[in-house]
Amino acid sequence: MRLAVGSIFIECNQFGGTPADLVRFEQYELLRGEAMLGVGEGVVGGMLEVLRAGAAEIHPLLVASTCSSGPVTRACYDRLTTELFEALAPEDVDGVLLALHGSGVVAPATDLEGDLLAALRRHIGPELPLVATLDLHAHVSEAMVHNADALVAWETYPHKDAFTTGQRGARLLMGIVDGQWQPAMAMAKMPVLAGGCRGQTQGDGAFADLMRRTKSFEQRAGVLSTSLFMVHAHLDFAGLGSGALVITDNDMDLAVELATDIAKRYWQSREALEQPVLSPATAICQGLEIDGGPVLLIETADCAGGGAAGDSVASIRALIDADLDATSLAMVVDPEAAAACHSADAGAQLRLSLGHKLDPQWGKPIEVTGIVQRISNGNFRYDGGIWAGIEATMGPAAVFAAGEVKILIGTHATYDWADEQYRSMQLEPGGAKFVVVKNPMNYRFGYAGITKAAFILDTPGPTPASVRHLQYKHMQRPYFPVDTEIPGLKPTVLRSRA
Ligand SMILES: [Zn+2]
Repeated sequence: MRLAVGSIFIECNQFGGTPADLVRFEQYELLRGEAMLGVGEGVVGGMLEVLRAGAAEIHPLLVASTCSSGPVTRACYDRLTTELFEALAPEDVDGVLLALHGSGVVAPATDLEGDLLAALRRHIGPELPLVATLDLHAHVSEAMVHNADALVAWETYPHKDAFTTGQRGARLLMGIVDGQWQPAMAMAKMPVLAGGCRGQTQGDGAFADLMRRTKSFEQRAGVLSTSLFMVHAHLDFAGLGSGALVITDNDMDLAVELATDIAKRYWQSREALEQPVLSPATAICQGLEIDGGPVLLIETADCAGGGAAGDSVASIRALIDADLDATSLAMVVDPEAAAACHSADAGAQLRLSLGHKLDPQWGKPIEVTGIVQRISNGNFRYDGGIWAGIEATMGPAAVFAAGEVKILIGTHATYDWADEQYRSMQLEPGGAKFVVVKNPMNYRFGYAGITKAAFILDTPGPTPASVRHLQYKHMQRPYFPVDTEIPGLKPTVLRSRA
């Protein structure tokens, strides 16, 4: 069995952030041809392991992944897809396996994965099996469902199952290629848009309940795979929605029935997925009533992992205004301020204009006087998550102390898993009263065991906890949470070609 394997993996944001170009992929992971055969972790690592165990002949294409951002530039997308297609001669393979995200965008507003899978289908013809893995925050579009034979999403949030998702995708493709299964795939979704804060898959939350029910369908006869999706709501496409995708062995009616069951329950669960938020000042007041620390200030509206630029100073402003005796840690992406710290060197006193230079629509810079405590090249290694073991870089970085507020200034936005960035600059969250964290979910895992409390903040930014106030251009009402009741609402059902 000869199988092609590749990946173009990015989550994009259509409300902010900075564009993704080839350099951004080079900063994370860009491996061509044979070089990608050494990948041992993540989705691609899981795929390769199963294919090798099944004695498949692997045709390596290209692995490109990077931190979330604004849309991918057209030049970057064209370059990556050209390389991918040039490495893929359809007559040389029996199937194609791709690791995708599902919420990519090509600038200005093209569904990346839909476009890629449609182009790939034209390239390989109608017969060759094509399987792709997705993030559970994917926007599953009609083009994706029509052009893939099977789509498989990861099952955990915080995301901890990239490797096993790769394994699941590889097993499915091998079963299809050897004629064991004929996949029939249906996606059913409802217009429920939520930030990620209430999307944990462990415990007793609404999304966890939906996930358990969705996965329970895999025990039924004839069901090959089920996936639950909470759409990345910081995209702006018509037809955004959340729900389930079910793949059966040649039984479209069953796939539609089960996917629809989940979509209807998803709508019923909508209120439980909305996250209450606090102003930074209120969160600091409430945090001061708690003994010790760290108390996490979750500035999720500026989440680099959701595509934001990471350059908001809303929490930093509130911490400086609170004038605390205890140490707080905060982070901001600001290339100019990082360069100023590097020119001045450690120990220098500086006055910096900080924040809102990359994505100025969400606030104004603040003027801060402080001491440059430390500078570095910004390199760090992920301890866990979807890039576990990968070396990444914030670019030239500095710790700038404005009194007891220690500000980590980086040059590039980087995905937050746990506290790797802080610790790489010798900032220890365990010893701080307040720690600003810019992600909606991973903090539950990354700071587990040391946190006294966590408050989700209401701050401006392109990745807010609630999308109630986002101005969509392409996504049309009605949708939750703007429309809380929608008379006559039925799931939108997408079916594969099978
Ligand atoms: Zn995700």
